[in-house]
Amino acid sequence: MVAVIGASLLGLVLGSFAGAQIWRLRARELATGEGLTTQESRQLRQLKPLLQHTLTTDRSICLHCRHALAWFDLIPLLSWLSTLGKCRYCRTPIGTMEPLIELSTSAYVVLSYLVLFAGQPLTMLLLVRALLWIGAGVCIAILFWYDLRWSMLPLAITMLLIAIALLYAGIIVATNQDIAAASWSLLGSLVILSGLYFALYTISHGSWVGGGDYKLGAGLALLLGDWRLALAALFIANIVGCLVVIPGLVSGRVNAGSKVPFGPLLIIGFVAAIMLAPQIESLFGFYSLL
Ligand SMILES: [Zn+2]
Repeated sequence: MVAVIGASLLGLVLGSFAGAQIWRLRARELATGEGLTTQESRQLRQLKPLLQHTLTTDRSICLHCRHALAWFDLIPLLSWLSTLGKCRYCRTPIGTMEPLIELSTSAYVVLSYLVLFAGQPLTMLLLVRALLWIGAGVCIAILFWYDLRWSMLPLAITMLLIAIALLYAGIIVATNQDIAAASWSLLGSLVILSGLYFALYTISHGSWVGGGDYKLGAGLALLLGDWRLALAALFIANIVGCLVVIPGLVSGRVNAGSKVPFGPLLIIGFVAAIMLAPQIESLFGFYSLL
């Protein structure tokens, strides 16, 4: 119980960090981007102060009134709730993305703890694995919300995710009793989640799926490390995609030319595969008996 509360608090803090990075990444992307729309130019003017701060000397400000934020404005979730999502100084609504990032990251850390790490003997190796997993989780949270909002996966974060996931996969394979089988399963996972998107990207010259999708797929495939889980993640991502797109098609909000961000769908599939891993494995075990 104490561990679950600890994990949820850690997740809230990490979510708050992820939220701050999202706006900084957005500011940097707009500052280097060309042919901005009027709306994007306006957003860039608003986000400009974020470009002047580095990570270590940063003191967050309200992006609307530029008021420096006090420590009590930076408490995850509680600060947002205490002002009902408005800036304490100018009363401008902050939006619901911040608390959602914090809550989703918190849920991710708690579920990861319960599914992957709880009840295992605490060793140095487990600690390293948990740290890598959580680091990957922060990248995943940033990618999920960034892609959902702006239909784009920032390259710096996808590459960081791949680097962390490579280390994680390396540990999982090296500590497996059957290294050959674990390597083949990892390779299968990469082919399913990244190779397929890479093929779609190459064939369509980037018009069906974005260049970020196969890189995100590679990161997630390395973390899953199992071709059965990768297949399940891809399947779930597509089911959820259909559930999201079909009502949009019917109501006319989505048409053939609309871009559907695959990143969040892949991530939903990934999280579902992790949570359902025992069921997925027994399902495959059942079919191999037939
Ligand atoms: Zn303000």
